[in-house]
Amino acid sequence: MAKQYETVIGLEVHVELATRTKIFCGCSTAFGGAPNTHTCPVCTGMPGSLPVLNKQVAEYAIGVGLATNCTITRYCKFDRKNYFYPDNPQNYQISQLYLPICRDGYVEIGLPAGATERKKRIGIHEIHMEEDAGKLIHDDWEGCSLVDYNRSGVPLIEIVSEPDMRSADEVIAYLEKLRMLIQYLGASDCKLQEGSMRADVNLSVREAGAKEFGTRTEMKNLNSFRAIARAIEGERERQIDLIESGKAVVQETRRWDDTQETSYAMRSKEDAQDYRYFPDPDLPPLCIDDAWLERIRERQPEFREEKRSRYRETFDLPDYDIDLITDSKHMADLFEATVALGAHPKKVSNWLMVETLRILKEKGLDPEDIAFSPEHFAALIDLTERKVINSTVAKKVFEALFDEDIDPVAYVEEKGLRTVNDEGALRGIVEQVLAENPQSVEDYKNGKEKAIGFLVGQTMKAMKGKADPAAVNKLLKELL
Ligand SMILES: [Zn+2]
Repeated sequence: MAKQYETVIGLEVHVELATRTKIFCGCSTAFGGAPNTHTCPVCTGMPGSLPVLNKQVAEYAIGVGLATNCTITRYCKFDRKNYFYPDNPQNYQISQLYLPICRDGYVEIGLPAGATERKKRIGIHEIHMEEDAGKLIHDDWEGCSLVDYNRSGVPLIEIVSEPDMRSADEVIAYLEKLRMLIQYLGASDCKLQEGSMRADVNLSVREAGAKEFGTRTEMKNLNSFRAIARAIEGERERQIDLIESGKAVVQETRRWDDTQETSYAMRSKEDAQDYRYFPDPDLPPLCIDDAWLERIRERQPEFREEKRSRYRETFDLPDYDIDLITDSKHMADLFEATVALGAHPKKVSNWLMVETLRILKEKGLDPEDIAFSPEHFAALIDLTERKVINSTVAKKVFEALFDEDIDPVAYVEEKGLRTVNDEGALRGIVEQVLAENPQSVEDYKNGKEKAIGFLVGQTMKAMKGKADPAAVNKLLKELL
């Protein structure tokens, strides 16, 4: 019988924090900008410059630590991680090794249906603060590489999990959980494609039931959940093949190529001692006292679980709706603001769950990308409730709202989209439709009830969709 293998996975997740300025200087963290314009002597590593910690970075890190049940290190320090590479102008990265700001936490993930347990706890070994590196550009010029230090010194936290995950499904559930907590905190937008959340996967395999871990590899360059799932599957198979053919797995860092669906060895995996870490003498230790910690604790947002129970008590909504809305803080905020303007909760929920999700999916966007205002959204719902526009027109108006945040009231007037339901205006059109479709009239009179549907459709078409279908139906029956 073939041997059974277990996959053991731990994650190192880098999250770019949403501060306005960098971690150790006042330079902007804004994305883009001409190369080397968001820079100063500190973030370009000029001799004699001194770093000063951005307080907001520590507060975000502590916020994430509290949300993931970590112990906060009250006396924490920064260390220098030494390495030579042109993206790193100081020749060391300021990071934390000995006293990271958060330790020993966990998050709970839901497991797919069919699993014996419904929830699983994934341990968090530590969360530390560090600075991002610059960016090397290799393909703009021939024969040389360029470097842009705009990203150098952008604040990151690195969340290091315990090797508690056993499948790609668990890894993705864990990442989704982290992303949700961090988005709720407003500490980052956590976009994998744009690199504001990056996951390195440490993976090893061992025979089922074995106590010892196998040799692990680390995989980098994973920028979507799909790439992560494929990379895990590919690496698992590669390691099992090596073991089965009597070869050893080499401890190394590998780069995943998602288009080729394969990985390449980049370098042997470094250990901490390879970096000759030592405490950074330029930065004083960070002391987190009770009062500061308490202030941060009080400012923690209402997370999804609390939001869910409040929604259950406050709004008369099915659990399905509640789960979907609270899946994104941005969506939940939009829902609450729209309801606060007087819109009916279930109507708001329906628009979010059906049309909004349809458009997001079509355009490949996240709920975080929704840009229309609750005021305009509430106005559109009001127009449909008062039957000023019918549902077909409402969907068109909603698309304009989604794309350009138009004012629905002005838009409907401007484009003449009001529903026509006064009999005078309708009667002429209905009479014309009846005259043009004698066969359907005949069918209806011979008892084919369905024929009326066709006539309603023809009338709606003649009215460019602006008629009230109920009024058309009534009038048709009257005239037939
Ligand atoms: Zn700077």
